[in-house]
Amino acid sequence: MLDPTAIYKTEPTVRKDVKFECLSCKLQTSPSLNFQCVQCGGAQKIVYPAYSRPLQGKGMNRYAPLLPLDRHHWSETSSSLQKLSSDLDVWAKNDGTLPIGNTKFRQAAVAVPAFMALGVHHLVVASTGNSSNSYCHAARTTYPKLSVDVFVPESHKSRIQYLGDRVTLRIQQADFVETGERAKRYAAANGHHSDGGFFNPFRREGLKTAYLEAIEQFLEQNQCSPDFFVQAISSGMGIIAAYSAFQEALKLRWIDHIPAMIAVQQTSCAPVVNAYERGHSTIEDLDIERNPKGLAAAILRGNPVASYPYLVQVIESTKGAFVAVDENELRASKSTLAAEGIQACFAAAATLAGVRKLRESCHPAAEGKGVIMITGSKD
Ligand SMILES: [Zn+2]
Repeated sequence: MLDPTAIYKTEPTVRKDVKFECLSCKLQTSPSLNFQCVQCGGAQKIVYPAYSRPLQGKGMNRYAPLLPLDRHHWSETSSSLQKLSSDLDVWAKNDGTLPIGNTKFRQAAVAVPAFMALGVHHLVVASTGNSSNSYCHAARTTYPKLSVDVFVPESHKSRIQYLGDRVTLRIQQADFVETGERAKRYAAANGHHSDGGFFNPFRREGLKTAYLEAIEQFLEQNQCSPDFFVQAISSGMGIIAAYSAFQEALKLRWIDHIPAMIAVQQTSCAPVVNAYERGHSTIEDLDIERNPKGLAAAILRGNPVASYPYLVQVIESTKGAFVAVDENELRASKSTLAAEGIQACFAAAATLAGVRKLRESCHPAAEGKGVIMITGSKD
């Protein structure tokens, strides 16, 4: 069934007043399908003209002035922010209640109409589940002109849902890294577009709305700025999205300081945490997890080489932290959240485990009041 709040009645267009800006060399260009900087290959963010009027509307549509398309009615779906009774001064932003049960709903809600506006109606995607589901769900419920090729490792095929006429499932006898490479080769050989993964700025603009919404809800409940945010990471796209949201919230004078950003992995697959603790400026061979395993399936990525330098920048500039948590800590946090009425997948539960671990060691990043991002409900 089509989502009546998200149907586009006219073809969306990319706004003329927004730019891609390279996170490395700062080059500005008009938004296009060049998801990496044409000058240096860096990742790019989207920059907007100054905006000061009060926001109106519901869900993602409320943030239309901070989203990159014209003539588009964004989804009005939102999620709640709930104070935990179990842990002092921790609020949970529960995106597990969104359609598809995951925050990745937000990424497709921006990336898909952006692709449409740029003339792309067929996409090749590869993921361990949630990202692909977000595109499949968009094709099935909202965008009748979208078709998708989904590359998935055999080991993860049961995670792909929302199959339909316009979704072709391409199961690979390969690990996730090789599956991703095959998807890219298939797209190139057949003249299709892949979704661009971490480098796709439109995906990050979608995820940004989770943070904007959480900040507004936090201010309403507390009349003060949040001190920290916590997210579980694989490539860490959400961390870059969060930083964009923080900068915009600061410009809008919603918050008076940038929150500390805390990124959590599980000890059995923690290439980012390990690389950082070893003082590496890039992911090195030693850091790569070749056989990712662990309870938190949504964050089983062994080699986030492209995003790592950007993650370090955000964590350091916000005085945040990288932390890894073990299986027992994941289980305990998941139980706590369940007792609070929050259904969290293990990856989402890693956020609470991360806060607890940092607080045990009196780490300053987890001091004060903060928000854990419950990115998904299903393992
Ligand atoms: Zn550049």
